[in-house]
Amino acid sequence: MNKNISRSIINSKGEILFFGLQDFIKNIIENKYCFICGANPNLKKFNDEHIIPDWILKKYKLHSQKITLPNGTKINYGHYKVSCCQECNTELGKTYELPISKLLNKSYNDICDELKKNPSLFKLLFRWAALIYLKTHLKDNSFLLERDKSKKSGFIADNYYWQDMHHIHCIARSHYTKAKIDENVYGTVLILPALKIGNRENFDYVDSETAKSVLLQLNEFSIIVVLNDSSFSYIMFKEFIDKIEGPLSSFQLREILAHLN
Ligand SMILES: [Zn+2]
Repeated sequence: MNKNISRSIINSKGEILFFGLQDFIKNIIENKYCFICGANPNLKKFNDEHIIPDWILKKYKLHSQKITLPNGTKINYGHYKVSCCQECNTELGKTYELPISKLLNKSYNDICDELKKNPSLFKLLFRWAALIYLKTHLKDNSFLLERDKSKKSGFIADNYYWQDMHHIHCIARSHYTKAKIDENVYGTVLILPALKIGNRENFDYVDSETAKSVLLQLNEFSIIVVLNDSSFSYIMFKEFIDKIEGPLSSFQLREILAHLN
């Protein structure tokens, strides 16, 4: 293993600016320390951070509905949380959820106008998608692959390749480290019109562990993000994507996600 990537960088205030790969795996994955600042739960006040943001759960009435995990287990969105220190949880709300909820509570056309006026919001959406993606995969380290304990199957996340996830962790906590993210790090971010079915709230979330991509549908629009492609997928499929004018069904959105991967 490269020595440099194993070494954490800590500033004079004791804040961890960079988790070396080994420290990331030991403290964040195995010990379940705060995934932003790395605090030990025995030494700091912790509360639980919703993996799917609480403002989405409220708006789409999801608290008592269930998300399906990679092993087929269904769990209430309201209980789907990851451990985080209270200080970092508050900061995540200010950094991501406040501005993102303000943006995504608009209509599809207004969101497109807002993004044209302020393209830096694409970067915020990218980092927000990285945060949600990181949380879903960290949580998979708490769920048994087989619910039958006699099978000794280990956890869902046991086969995850954490070296790749380390990069996404760096992006998700960049507000904390104040790291300047190179332009080439930002991947494909698409906002596409989605077909709203009936009067019920239309919500969907899909991610891919191997392809590092996220699909989120919020009623009349959908966000697709590829976290590690440096926008290559969009460049490859630009001609095809730019022709999309009408709202897409959930099957069509999944098809696009599969192509980008
Ligand atoms: Zn923290």
